Amino acid sequence: MGNNGTENMAKGGALSIRNATKIYDPEGVHVVALEDCSLDIKAGEFVAVVGPSGCGKTTLLNIMAGFDSLTKGEIYLDGELLAAPGVKPKPGPDRVVVFQHGALFPWKTVLENVIYGPVIQNQMSRSEAIEIAKERLSRIGLREIENVYPGQLSSGMQRRVEIVRALINNPLVLLLDEPFRGMDSVTKSASHECLLELYDIFHKTIYFITHDLEEAIFLSDTVAVMTTRPGRIRMTIKVDLPRPRDYRMLSSEKFLKLKEMAKDAVHEEALKAFQRGERELA
Ligand code: ADP
Ligand code: MG
Repeated sequence: MGNNGTENMAKGGALSIRNATKIYDPEGVHVVALEDCSLDIKAGEFVAVVGPSGCGKTTLLNIMAGFDSLTKGEIYLDGELLAAPGVKPKPGPDRVVVFQHGALFPWKTVLENVIYGPVIQNQMSRSEAIEIAKERLSRIGLREIENVYPGQLSSGMQRRVEIVRALINNPLVLLLDEPFRGMDSVTKSASHECLLELYDIFHKTIYFITHDLEEAIFLSDTVAVMTTRPGRIRMTIKVDLPRPRDYRMLSSEKFLKLKEMAKDAVHEEALKAFQRGERELA
């Protein structure tokens, strides 16, 4: 098995977001999406980002993913400049994104989907990729679906396959944009379990956007609450619940306290957004 098959416990992946400012179309509509947004994410830290709709969560993700540029400020990955004005946005295998509406190839089986990236990029031989993919799928109980096509799977299963696929390239950072949004509660729980299991094994840095506060706390080490647009970090909440996480924690006093704290902050920001006329759902 090659290097990509070994488990890398957080050797890198520290993100430093310094006064990130993003103005869309400065000459025209001039939407200030982010303004002086600063946040430090440690290597291997799981950060859940919450905040009113339209506050700039996805904007920040897109910039870190290398899909868009910053207007002001800087973002560093392990001390290296990743984004700043004048720096050309560049996606890379060190940062992978999983969106709410997934992107598995419908004409390829689960196994073929998972091995596609590293094989096409010549990072692994086909047989090596297959070996690793099979091992990863079996670890989270997905081995029996390796020859199934995505169309035959539930959205929850598809999302889990995508996370396995995202991890096979051995990235430093996983960027997740509301991956479990709109799932029924059973599917969501299964997806949580899968992500937590993968996190406990691989310990990648995770930037996880959600509007579900319970999910945010249950999964993360830190909940970052953003202000209404222009987005900044209003507060960070340390989630000092032990790992592995367990559903019984959801009813613990500590959990409920954290939830109240996050809820108050998010509601206050959502109210501000609402009063400003942004009647989107928080
Ligand atoms: P969130 O993910 O927190 O819901 P977004 O980052 O998607 O918020 O959007 C932040 C703000 O920037 C919103 O007001 C949105 O309408 C605006 N916005 C996002 N993308 C663009 C774009 N390409 N051009 C202009 N405005 C945009
Ligand atoms: Mg968004």
